[in-house]
Amino acid sequence: MFDDRTDERPEPATLNDPAPAEPWTKIWDDVHIQKTTAYCEKAHAHRPVLFCFWCRSILKGGHNISKAEAHLAKKKGNDIRPCPALIPSDYARLYSQIYKAKQASKAATTTRRARKRRAEQELIDNHNLAVV
Ligand SMILES: [Zn+2]
Repeated sequence: MFDDRTDERPEPATLNDPAPAEPWTKIWDDVHIQKTTAYCEKAHAHRPVLFCFWCRSILKGGHNISKAEAHLAKKKGNDIRPCPALIPSDYARLYSQIYKAKQASKAATTTRRARKRRAEQELIDNHNLAVV
């Protein structure tokens, strides 16, 4: 779409943006964050990047949905800087909801895995007891 060598830049988002018509649940449904490519001088090639229309920044690190969500929800510690732009509250609330939902589902997955591991270990323990 555009790269560092051209002046071609998407129109920045403004605070006059209407609130999201339908609350989306996937960050890629939002027009304010877009998957694109940028020319990388080191690699002499185009690399996948994200473009944030709020802060008008190119975000390196590929088309990573978790990073996109963390950036928009302004959360630190996700290997991407939080969005420095002033985001209207309707959007900020949505980004925060999406981010929290992802964290909750991650926690649930971890719990499920831990439970499975415990069950497997019990089977092994029982087997060992039977053998002895
Ligand atoms: Zn941003």
